Amino acid sequence: MIAEILAVGTELLLGDVHDTNSTYLSQQLAQMGISVCHRQTVGDNPVRLRAAIRLALSRADVVILCGGLGPTPDDLTKECACEELGVPLVLHEESLSRIRGYFERSGRVMSDNNQKQAMMPEGGVVFRNDHGTAPGCAVAKDGKHLLIFPGPPRELKPMFEQAGKAYLRPLCDAVLRSHTVRVFGLGESAAAAMVAPLLDSENPTVAPYAKAGEMYFRVTAKAHTADEADALCAPMLEELCRTLGSAVYGVDVPSLEQAVVTGLADAHKTVATAESCTGGLVSERLTSVSGASAVFSTGVCAYSGEAKEALLGVPHDVIAQTGTVSADTAVWMARGVRARANADIGVSVTGSAGPTPCEGKPVGTVFVALSAEEGDFVRALNLTHRTDRDYIRTVAASHALDMVRKALGGDPVGERYEDHCE
Ligand code: AMP
Ligand code: MG
Repeated sequence: MIAEILAVGTELLLGDVHDTNSTYLSQQLAQMGISVCHRQTVGDNPVRLRAAIRLALSRADVVILCGGLGPTPDDLTKECACEELGVPLVLHEESLSRIRGYFERSGRVMSDNNQKQAMMPEGGVVFRNDHGTAPGCAVAKDGKHLLIFPGPPRELKPMFEQAGKAYLRPLCDAVLRSHTVRVFGLGESAAAAMVAPLLDSENPTVAPYAKAGEMYFRVTAKAHTADEADALCAPMLEELCRTLGSAVYGVDVPSLEQAVVTGLADAHKTVATAESCTGGLVSERLTSVSGASAVFSTGVCAYSGEAKEALLGVPHDVIAQTGTVSADTAVWMARGVRARANADIGVSVTGSAGPTPCEGKPVGTVFVALSAEEGDFVRALNLTHRTDRDYIRTVAASHALDMVRKALGGDPVGERYEDHCE
């Protein structure tokens, strides 16, 4: 079954209001196994609105309209939809008394034009609005279904959740299930090349996405039941994990930090962080995960060279000889915080996040280190192709988390560090 979403409102075209309804509806319909092939945004203009509805009805089985149910003359969604379908609007008494009651309860006077909101397509289904005045509705004609929802998201969402889904479910012939394979340390094109033959699969489909230095593959299957769809996904998920190896940090895991906290908890280990250019981002990400207190006790943000010496015990000579942005300083920071926090693992970040170079090191030069019982490891990151501070800091923090994850999994963490400067 194919659906099309029409978001109605001139404010959307002007960019004054962000069209969150279409995003929400797309997600909900996808979960129900309904394919959205097109979306349209149209202003409060009856000629263009009718043309948009006509186009949608010509290519979709279900047309979902949102917005334009207000009491003012520019709100015309129901009127235009009914004209296109050739269905008259009739007064729905129950809706009218609900709207009256809504005004009475809020101590306001109901104006005549609110009566327009109680006009409903003849023979249609009315969706009650428990959060505002405009009811929604659904009407079917010639095998096509047209559903109309109010624009305010706080009204649309509960109405779709309750009445919209109940209306659509009997029409659905399939369910869609998606699972996500999360990857760190491989670029989108490199990862996609590794699994290239799998990307042609049709059921399940496999789609790569890149996001803030990470990437993931979404595996989606369509079947009659959720269990059948999951069974179709399972071998594909296994194959992706096998091919991408330790670059995969989880399947259906919400974030790298979640994977790290879970991994530490399972291993009964603790981590402490020492951060310079990330300014506490690693500890922020770790503590955003519920349950972090079992695995994380200390995060030190040591931005200046003096703080690195005083708070983390980085030897003065190390900073004097190699600078604060160096593999040596990073390792000493990780060692220092591990010892001071009495943690199993110390992890650190120091670098030049830009926009101006630090100590003559190019923007994007970052060192991430990990100190643990097994030894000290360091990653020298070259992010010099990017000069935006947020990106560099995010990716640097992700590397710190990734090093912890790899250490827990017994995978190569980074270059093994041997002292040559003490
Ligand atoms: P309407 O039903 O057209 O009177 O819309 C009422 C209000 O709902 C608008 O002023 C917007 O603030 C909000 N709204 C309408 N359409 C959308 C949409 N597609 N996404 C998010 N908010 C919307
Ligand atoms: Mg409007």
